[in-house]
Amino acid sequence: MMNLFKELGIEDRLQWKSHSMIFARPDAPGEFSRFDFPQWLPAPLNGIVAILRNNQMLTWPEKIQFALGLLPAIVFGQKYVEAQDKLTVTQWMKQQGVPDRVNDEVFIAMAKALAFIDPSELSMTVVLTALNRFLQETHGCKMAFLDGAPPERLCAPMVEHFTSRGGEVQLSKRVKAWNPRADGKGLESVTLTSGETVLADAYVSAVPVDIMKLLVPEPWARDSYFTKLEGLEGVPVINVHLWFDRKLTTVDHLLFSRSPLLSVYADMSTTCKEYYSTEASMLELVFAPADAWVGRPDEEIVAATMGELERLFPNEVRADQRDGFAKLRKTKVVKTPRSVYRAVAGREDFRPLQRSPYPRFYLAGDYTKQKYLASMEGAILSGKLAAEAICEDLASGRLAPREAAASAVGAGQKQPALAA
Ligand SMILES: Cc1cc2nc3c(=O)[nH]c(=O)nc-3n(C[C@H](O)[C@H](O)[C@H](O)COP(=O)(O)OP(=O)(O)OC[C@H]3O[C@@H](n4cnc5c(N)ncnc54)[C@H](O)[C@@H]3O)c2cc1C
Repeated sequence: MMNLFKELGIEDRLQWKSHSMIFARPDAPGEFSRFDFPQWLPAPLNGIVAILRNNQMLTWPEKIQFALGLLPAIVFGQKYVEAQDKLTVTQWMKQQGVPDRVNDEVFIAMAKALAFIDPSELSMTVVLTALNRFLQETHGCKMAFLDGAPPERLCAPMVEHFTSRGGEVQLSKRVKAWNPRADGKGLESVTLTSGETVLADAYVSAVPVDIMKLLVPEPWARDSYFTKLEGLEGVPVINVHLWFDRKLTTVDHLLFSRSPLLSVYADMSTTCKEYYSTEASMLELVFAPADAWVGRPDEEIVAATMGELERLFPNEVRADQRDGFAKLRKTKVVKTPRSVYRAVAGREDFRPLQRSPYPRFYLAGDYTKQKYLASMEGAILSGKLAAEAICEDLASGRLAPREAAASAVGAGQKQPALAA
């Protein structure tokens, strides 16, 4: 992700926050508990000091028991991390003798932030992968906000980078069908919803896994490479955007709400240039787990969110917006019924490699096999791995560029080198 910003020359659009993880305190409404990573120490010492210095959330015996539980991950590394995919976070904590309070105080918030589900469902591999990065990389959990809306501030420079080098980006033309060769042993072409059929040397599908499952061509449907995708399914999540009539108690950072219905949130009027205001707060909140809520009306979701905010900040927010408390000026609820794949225990075995068994056809997307979880970084790394597979296949002869004559196409058809 950092390389991408560097290549695009837009690193100045990242608004870095202090190296901290900050949790709301339902036990002390209106206050926050901080894990501050000292600048003067490298990993893992900065993380250890951050944990040792926080005494509001965990007691000393709890910290020691948690540290002992983590020892195998530190000693046996990545192999151990991957082997824990069979256990949920809660099961792992029990097995390692970590007190329940560590789960309740820290890992409910962390699980919801990492994967939009509770620790009783989440694979321990996900948590250990994140913790490992925090412990191995000095800036592993440092956070930045993009300074405005992603389409303009991130996607537009990507399109510019691509088109200035001869590439072409076509929007609103969805993949309708992947068309296998007549013998079924490779991909022939792709048909778009615009009606065009595109011939290419290589095709990379980067659609989410739930869409990919619908697009698997019939002749390949029983291949284990594709049948195992059935083990992956997008998890629902909701974003709630609330515009208030006044400035609330605010912190210039991402905040872990530690409320049953909410996950992380931020006051965008403080954290993000595009929304800066000293007069009024604009909160963006992640509402998760959302299984029971995604089908419900926006008004109910906003009301439930206000109820949670009242619990956290009773001096400023009341769900009924009575006089003397913050009033809502505008709201927006964004529902994503199938977002990142549900990272419950045992999912690693279902994640496909980027190279499919069928020549010319590759997969990318955060659900494909890569080490960075279901995240933007994971998605970017998967794209790089797909590109690497294509280069290797070209070098080895497994992927041959189409002969100009063989690839003659009819009217309205296009012939780029790569369709994605
Ligand atoms: C609320 C929320 C908050 C998040 N916060 C973070 C965060 O803070 N940090 C982080 O790293 N990650 C975060 N994530 C996760 C991150 O957004 C995903 O991991 C990432 O976007 C996955 O990228 P992707 O390219 O695999 O899939 P997507 O981003 O889902 O892209 C798939 C694309 O395929 C397109 N598509 C669908 N069907 C077709 C079709 N038939 N033909 C052509 N195109 C099609 C879609 O329009 C979409 O553009 C968050 C996700 C959500 C939902």
